[in-house]
Amino acid sequence: MNISWGNIAKKISEIVGEENITTSLVDLITYSSDASIDSGMPNLVVWPTTPEQISKIVKLANEYHFPIIPRGAGTGLSGGAVPKYGGVILDLSRMNKILEISTQDLQVLVEAGVVADDLNQELAKHGLFFPPDPASSSAATIGGMLAENAGGIRAVKYGTTREWVLGLEVVLPTGEVLWVGRRAMKWVAGYDLVRLFIGSEGTLGIITKALLKVRPLPETALSAFAMFSSLEQAVHCVYKIIIEGLEPSKVEFLDQITLDAISKYTGTSFPPGEAAIIIELDGEKLSVEKRLERLIEIFKEEKALSYDVARTPEENMRIWQARKAALPALSSVKPTVVIEDVTVPISKLPYMVKVVQEISKKFNIPVATFGHVGDGNFHPCILLDIRNRDEVERMEKCALEIAKAAIKVGGTVSGEHGIGTLKMNMYRHEAPTELVKLLLKIKRALDPNNIMNPGKIFPKEYLEGNA
Ligand SMILES: Cc1cc2nc3c(=O)[nH]c(=O)nc-3n(C[C@H](O)[C@H](O)[C@H](O)COP(=O)(O)OP(=O)(O)OC[C@H]3O[C@@H](n4cnc5c(N)ncnc54)[C@H](O)[C@@H]3O)c2cc1C
Repeated sequence: MNISWGNIAKKISEIVGEENITTSLVDLITYSSDASIDSGMPNLVVWPTTPEQISKIVKLANEYHFPIIPRGAGTGLSGGAVPKYGGVILDLSRMNKILEISTQDLQVLVEAGVVADDLNQELAKHGLFFPPDPASSSAATIGGMLAENAGGIRAVKYGTTREWVLGLEVVLPTGEVLWVGRRAMKWVAGYDLVRLFIGSEGTLGIITKALLKVRPLPETALSAFAMFSSLEQAVHCVYKIIIEGLEPSKVEFLDQITLDAISKYTGTSFPPGEAAIIIELDGEKLSVEKRLERLIEIFKEEKALSYDVARTPEENMRIWQARKAALPALSSVKPTVVIEDVTVPISKLPYMVKVVQEISKKFNIPVATFGHVGDGNFHPCILLDIRNRDEVERMEKCALEIAKAAIKVGGTVSGEHGIGTLKMNMYRHEAPTELVKLLLKIKRALDPNNIMNPGKIFPKEYLEGNA
C-alpha cells in the first residue's frame, strides 16, 4: 500500500494535537538511531500523552499498514527503537507520571515514560527503592526497561526488571487497551501475559502503565574495590564470592582497557593491575560488616594485588559513578563501540573471559571487557572505526564467535540488552527452528498486520510467511 505521509500526519495531529507531532528533518534524524550503531529514518515522531491516543494511532496503523516503533529514552544497545522500515515513532517520554506509591503494599503505579532514577528519587522519600538498576538509569524509562527486561548492576542479588512487575497496561497491536496481572503478590489464573510482554522489545504492544514491586531501602551498603594481576584471577574471585553465598548486591568487573578509559574520561586514578572488581554488600549493618570481613579474606586468598573499602556514602558514590562511566569512556577510545551482552552459567565465567581474549587476538581487534559478571553477564566491547570496512568485517566475525562460544556452554547472546536488529544473526544460532516458529505464531496472533516494531528479534521476511 502506498502511504501518503501528509495525510497520516494530519490524521495523527487530529488525535494528539499539532504540538505533539513532528516531521521536521532535524527531529527525524535525531530519532533515527538509539545508543546502538544501527539507524533508519522514521516518517513521523509523535509524543502521545494517553493510552486512548495511542490506541487510535495503532488502529490507524492497521488501516494504512505503517510501522509503529515505541520508544523510551533511546538508550537501547541492540537497535530496538530504530525504525528499520520507516513509520511512526511513539515517544513515551511525556507519559512520565508516578501515579501512586503504596507504602502499605510496597507497590508503585507508574506511566511508562518515568525515568528509573526519577522513580528512585521519589521512592527514597518513603524509604523505598525499585532495585533494577541499569547503568543508564539517569535516562532509561520504565517502559524501555520492561521491553528489554533490563538487568543492571544490582541484578546479581535482586534479579532483572521482570522480577519486579505485578501488572501492565498495554495497547495491543490491534488497538485494544488491556490490563494484565493483579495487585496480589502471586496468582495462577490463566497464562502469565505480564511475562509475555516483558522482554518483547516493543513487538507485541505498547506498555503504557506498570504496577511495580518496591522494597524498603537497605539499612546500609558498603562497597569494596580489589585489583588483580589478570582478568581470569579477578573473575575467579567473583565466582568464589558468589559460590560462598556472600550475597553481594552488586558485582562488577573491569579490564585494563576499560580502567584506562575511565581514568582518562573521569580523572579517577586506579592502583596498578590488569583487572578490577567492585563489590557492594547491602542489608542489615551487622550482617554487612560480617560479610565484609569474609570478603576481605577472599580477596587475600585470591591474591588481590590491592583492595580498598569505601565506607562513606561519598566514596561509595564515586566508585559507582566511575563504573557507570565505563561505556561512555570507551566511546572516547575509538569512534565505534560494539557492545556484546553474553551471559553464561557462573562456573563458565573464567573460561568465557579467556575465550574472549583469544578471539580478540585471533581477529586482531581490541575487545574491552566489563560487566555485571556476578550473574554470569558481561559485556565484551569491540572497539573499531565503523568507517573502516576491514575493521567492520573483523568485528562481525569476532562478535559471532563470542556469541557461539557462549551458546556452546549453555549461555545466551543477550542477558539484558535484547536481540533488536543487531543480534538477530547470533540469535539464529541460539534458538532452534521449532522455538522460532512458536514465537512467530504468538507474534502473528497478536499482530496480524505486523505493524509493531517490525524487523526486531526476527527478520521481517519471517513474518511475511517465509519462516
Ligand atoms: C551507557 C549505557 C549503559 C547501559 N547499561 C545498561 C545496564 O547496565 N543494564 C541493562 O540492562 N541495559 C543497559 N543499557 C541499555 C538500555 O539503557 C536499556 O535497554 C534500557 O532498558 C532502555 O530503556 P529506554 O527507555 O532507553 O528504551 P529505548 O531504547 O527507547 O527502547 C528500547 C526497546 O524498548 C521498546 N520500548 C520502549 N518503550 C516501550 C514501551 N513503553 N512499550 C513497549 N516497548 C517499548 C523499544 O521499541 C525498543 O525495542 C545501557 C545503555 C547505555 C547507553
